[in-house]
Amino acid sequence: MALRVYNTLTRQKEPFQTVRPGQVGMYVCGPTVYKPSHVGHMVGPVIFDTVKRFLTYSGYKVTWVVNITDVDDKLIERAKEQGTTVKELAEKMTADYLDCLRKLDVIGIDLMPKATEHIGEMIEMMQRLIDKGYAYASGGDVYFDVTRDPDYGKLCNRDPAEMEAGTRNEVSEKKRNPGDFAMWKSSKPGEPAWDSPWGRGRPGWHIECSAMSMKYFGHTLDIHGGGLDLKFPHHENELAQSESYSDQPFARFWMHNGLLDMGGKMAGSKGNVVNVVDLLKEFSAESARYLLLATHYRSPIDFLDWKQRLAELGRALESFYRFFERYQRITGDSFYSLVAATTLTDSTAKTLPEASLWRGAWQTFLEHMEDDFNTGGAVAVLYELLNKLNRFADDKKVETEKKPDDIKELKTGAMVLRELAQILGLFWEAPAKKGGDNQVVDGLMKLLIDLRNEARKSKNYALGDQIRNRLKELGITLEDRAGETGWRLG
Ligand SMILES: [Zn+2]
Repeated sequence: MALRVYNTLTRQKEPFQTVRPGQVGMYVCGPTVYKPSHVGHMVGPVIFDTVKRFLTYSGYKVTWVVNITDVDDKLIERAKEQGTTVKELAEKMTADYLDCLRKLDVIGIDLMPKATEHIGEMIEMMQRLIDKGYAYASGGDVYFDVTRDPDYGKLCNRDPAEMEAGTRNEVSEKKRNPGDFAMWKSSKPGEPAWDSPWGRGRPGWHIECSAMSMKYFGHTLDIHGGGLDLKFPHHENELAQSESYSDQPFARFWMHNGLLDMGGKMAGSKGNVVNVVDLLKEFSAESARYLLLATHYRSPIDFLDWKQRLAELGRALESFYRFFERYQRITGDSFYSLVAATTLTDSTAKTLPEASLWRGAWQTFLEHMEDDFNTGGAVAVLYELLNKLNRFADDKKVETEKKPDDIKELKTGAMVLRELAQILGLFWEAPAKKGGDNQVVDGLMKLLIDLRNEARKSKNYALGDQIRNRLKELGITLEDRAGETGWRLG
């Protein structure tokens, strides 16, 4: 099977082909940096980070650009409220965004251009659009004339009249048609402003992305990504002005990720905003990343009962951590120090014989990822592989008998797990030593294990078995190891 990717523009999955063989240019719309990042801001980065990891694994050289919108109405307003400058606020919130990315193991972004550093490119683009008759200057503003572009509406598959009715376009005397959108806005006194052929002003949002993506990737990108909420008007407008400018297709693939489902939008006015910083006070960054990848990227992510969901996923992760501890006891090595292949060319899994216990998991994982990056399916495969590894260790009594061949086989399986987990960006570092609930759980488990051992010592095997069976019903497995008893979930 070969990679197929869903393209919003054609509304179907298509074979993945790039402009330059072996290379991928990927542009994902970034944040407007006026407030701290909430969880919704991390959905796109985590998904496209995983897309990049998989494309890299598949042999592509991927360049990924995420822009920073550091001039905007919201920024101007918020800076005024806080008695600070737009520049200072933007810098502070960009630092917050970068910190959140790091915590969620989003490591693949190659370049983060700022809008304010690309004003020249935007002006050049607008001038050419005016010269070609697609845009017009009016009262210090510049507008794109949607009626001059016969393709307008093709990304959303809607006709312009319908789109116009569906949006609350600002009625302005400066516009020729209600659906026309601003590429340049004249500035009011005290607002950030740049010189232009149309007077002092600042760029609109859509033109930033067109100018920056074409600067770094040329006229045609391979992947243009963003959240589903950006499809209209942002991406439709980007597409219109870019293709009118270059007469070339703007993006080979338009990819849109689903949004957090809170039973409505996450918004300050609704009081349901979950900032990344606050989430990380209660839950691990790994469980957040796991949550964002456990659903197909085009579907909404159930976030209504997010605390409950994160707690559930935390327990699923806990069973991986238990296995990593078990692995260390058996082999003496940390799972986290395993250096697994990051490309298919170097893959351990690829070299395994067909009959290998672990090869099937690798194949199924690839099938899911090649089917439009189905991370939800891929996550499920990791979990199946974990169960297989535990079963193998149980059946072969690897911990007590320590047969070299079995240890070797277990190591191979763990290496495959590491190789696949890396593609999803999971298990990048050992979880921090936990306190609170986990200490209580550990203490209780030790108590039950001691009681069981005492029962067995006094030959009360029925009680010993009862403890083991009742724990099994709760989803906890006791493991008899050389000289001691341990436990794991599952
Ligand atoms: Zn954009």
